[in-house]
Amino acid sequence: MKRIVVLGGGESGVGSAVLAKVKDMDVLLSDNSTLSDKARAELMKWDIPFEEGGHSLEKILAADEIIKSPGIPDTAPVVEAAVKAGIPVISEIEFGGRYDRAKRICITGSNGKTTTTSLIYYMLKNAGLNVGLGGNIGDSYAYQVATCDYDYYVLELSSFQLDGMYEFKADIAILLNITPDHLDRYDHKMENYVKAKFRITRNMSEEDYFIFCEDDPMTVESLNLILSRAKMLPFSQNHETEEGAYTDEGKIVVRHKGSVWEMFIKDLSLVGRHNVYNSMAAAITGKVMNITDDVIRNSLGTFKSIEHRLETVLTLGGVTYINDSKATNVNSTWYALECQKRPVVWIAGGTDKGNDYSEIMDLVRSKVKALICLGVDNAKLHRSFEGVVPQITDALSAEEAVRKAYKLAQDGDVVLLSPCCASFDLFKNYEDRGRRFKEAVRNL
Ligand code: ADP
Repeated sequence: MKRIVVLGGGESGVGSAVLAKVKDMDVLLSDNSTLSDKARAELMKWDIPFEEGGHSLEKILAADEIIKSPGIPDTAPVVEAAVKAGIPVISEIEFGGRYDRAKRICITGSNGKTTTTSLIYYMLKNAGLNVGLGGNIGDSYAYQVATCDYDYYVLELSSFQLDGMYEFKADIAILLNITPDHLDRYDHKMENYVKAKFRITRNMSEEDYFIFCEDDPMTVESLNLILSRAKMLPFSQNHETEEGAYTDEGKIVVRHKGSVWEMFIKDLSLVGRHNVYNSMAAAITGKVMNITDDVIRNSLGTFKSIEHRLETVLTLGGVTYINDSKATNVNSTWYALECQKRPVVWIAGGTDKGNDYSEIMDLVRSKVKALICLGVDNAKLHRSFEGVVPQITDALSAEEAVRKAYKLAQDGDVVLLSPCCASFDLFKNYEDRGRRFKEAVRNL
């Protein structure tokens, strides 16, 4: 009987343990902190042994294979010990892929993964396909492989999941963009992070498709890293593409195998230049999958934006409040500012990840009338934007930030929470930050 140890008891870990159990393996789940009640109940339901609050190394080193949760770094002592002992360490997605015969559409990138994954899933559902949603989003992929029978999966893959993938193959792979993020987990070397992203193309064959952004310098520069035989379908807002997607006179145009599909950008339900990219990636996927033109158009026109991503909360006294709490790096805030047509009262700040604000300096200068720094340590924001933004002030809670924004904003302005930073100094996570912001806005 194959011995499997699952490290980490979050969504993906529990799902992997259930799949191992269903496949009649001898499985142990081990977590060095406490499990949630939900995880515990699920493991007991499936009669899966587990330990929490520490790892018993002896049992772990007796495994034939280890499935590691994406949140655990390679430098964790237990992982280093396993690697030293020669035990293969894989990800949930690699494990699930072994037992899954469905066609897979896989999405990665530094920004836009959740949006694009949800949009494609929505489109495939509208097309009447039997499709599951997984990866970094929704229920665990491995759990669904164990308990459901889908013909297609749309999977959001982070670089951490891609790191533990070897034999897994995507039928359609989408790489949205590559900008610096999570470098702390990649020895602070951009090339390591880029390599992780490109793992999405591993094992692809002539029948498969690789969809990528031709305007993204890091992607284009690194294309020669790919040894994949997949058909390449680029998208661009800067130039026409022979196959793939581009923009022309306010329209998205997709060309694929001699057919042409078009849609006005103003009819897309998601706004902003970044969402034109996301919509193009989805439209190409639709064409490749032979989804009818109407279903693609209708899906891109009716998709509801997801929480915490440029989410309009409400308009009060002519001021629109927007929650973009998920913008945890500079690049995503660039897009949030870029699509604003009205003067912006900008709420930013939190845990800095080594941000370089020069990228957004011009946009801030031309659009932002006031900055409210929402963080414990706001010194860097002050240093960067003093003299650029006319008014800068501080806040230590979402309520305080919203109250100050309310005072600073006038009829016709936008109050935009788009922090550029992680949330951990003042909030549990970005969802908590976004929810508190919305609550404070609704209480105005
Ligand atoms: P991810 O899952 O990759 O973190 P999300 O879809 O959750 O991406 O979006 C994260 C943030 O990035 C949001 O603030 C959003 O407005 C912005 N964003 C979305 N798509 C893109 C894109 N293609 N390029 C740059 N920024 C984007």
